[in-house]
Amino acid sequence: MTVETVEVPGDLGAFAEYVRTRVGTFVNEFDSTTEDSVDSSDRIAAVEELRDGHDAAVATQRRLQRALFDAGIAWPSGPLDLGGLGLTFAHDTVLDTVLDELGLPSREALFVGLNIVAPAVVHHASADLRSSVVTGLYRGDLIGCQLFSEPGAGSDLAGVSTKAVRDGDDWVLTGQKVWTSMGHLADVGEALVRTDPNAPKHAGLTMFLVDMHAPGVTVRPIRQMTGGAAFNEVFLDEVRVPDSHRIGGIGDGWTVASTSLGNERSTMSGAAGPLTPYVMERVVGLVRRLEAEADPLLRPQIARTVAAVAAMRAASGLSAGSWSHRMEPVAGSVLKMLMATAADEISALAAAVLGERAFVDHGEKDAFAWSEFVLGVPALHLAGGTDEIQYNVIAQRGLGLPRR
Ligand SMILES: Cc1cc2nc3c(=O)[nH]c(=O)nc-3n(C[C@H](O)[C@H](O)[C@H](O)COP(=O)(O)OP(=O)(O)OC[C@H]3O[C@@H](n4cnc5c(N)ncnc54)[C@H](O)[C@@H]3O)c2cc1C
Repeated sequence: MTVETVEVPGDLGAFAEYVRTRVGTFVNEFDSTTEDSVDSSDRIAAVEELRDGHDAAVATQRRLQRALFDAGIAWPSGPLDLGGLGLTFAHDTVLDTVLDELGLPSREALFVGLNIVAPAVVHHASADLRSSVVTGLYRGDLIGCQLFSEPGAGSDLAGVSTKAVRDGDDWVLTGQKVWTSMGHLADVGEALVRTDPNAPKHAGLTMFLVDMHAPGVTVRPIRQMTGGAAFNEVFLDEVRVPDSHRIGGIGDGWTVASTSLGNERSTMSGAAGPLTPYVMERVVGLVRRLEAEADPLLRPQIARTVAAVAAMRAASGLSAGSWSHRMEPVAGSVLKMLMATAADEISALAAAVLGERAFVDHGEKDAFAWSEFVLGVPALHLAGGTDEIQYNVIAQRGLGLPRR
């Protein structure tokens, strides 16, 4: 479909209005009852659990992404030549916020592809790969996953041992990845692998885009303490990847990974991350419904929560306005820590206000639903790199402190 040429306002308020108008043409097609088979109206999660019985939700998210693409607003911060609007991260946040306000389904199945894989492809891949893959991701045709962590390489990511060996125009990948969010839904995976075992560890890495439906790719679910299984282990058994699907130069894998990680960490603090406007609305609603603000024992926790959320929003808003699609690693680490702190405070507040009703299901709406959120929050201190790793990045790369 051809996107009609219209003047897109740069001012954030006017842009929000513009988005509302564009979305207004199709908003009625997305009745929230089509989103999920479970009682989605009461669910509240820190880490999304799209697995069994969620096929309809994933199909709806793809359809929503396609509608946004056709309306020309799928990717505000994206480059103009790839179908983006050439605006800033702040405009991405405005889009996510307006979609949330309008009650449209969140697009968590697409989060990794849009916020982790796409930036790497945009900044490092060949022109052909960029145009085909990035358009596919932004149109909702492709779901992406991140094949970085391994059983022996998480925080020490440069220590990955999955290997790629050149064979003519292809590379042959063998190894195991783990904690792969959305791997079971993915069409493409951004895989950090070792191409030169003799080079220093950061220099021997190369990034590839793997077809997740290719022979030799096996995806197995990992069950989490929330009861869901949002991530997976992925086995790569002599998987052939054409050299044209290399992202960046041979040996440049670490640089490409840094682009993905910077974006991942920073978008986690935005409206598309775990603390959506919906989550904020729910926690405010909970406090008001139970009149917790009248309780002097709960007031300090309410104040801590408000302060943490305000700090996250302020920092996220500041950085989103000043950076384009490629986020600096230090800023990403700061934003991720502010998000994780705010998530802790929300979780502590919900648990304090509800007491045992957060964990024992009495059939009360807006009570036991919080257990999924509270149990999911610890994962936010690990995903995208643990707290300790963010502190190391901030200390060494931001503040110039020496390594210990
Ligand atoms: C919800 C969720 C989703 C995820 N999704 C993905 C995904 O899609 N793709 C993917 O590739 N990975 C994913 N991960 C994996 C995540 O990136 C890793 O869990 C994380 O990087 C930590 O690695 P690890 O689990 O191996 O822990 P380890 O590296 O073994 O760390 C264990 C502990 O040691 C500490 N530690 C390690 N090194 C240092 C150091 N140098 N200084 C101080 N402390 C240190 C850590 O902080 C941690 O507390 C996900 C994780 C979660 C929880």
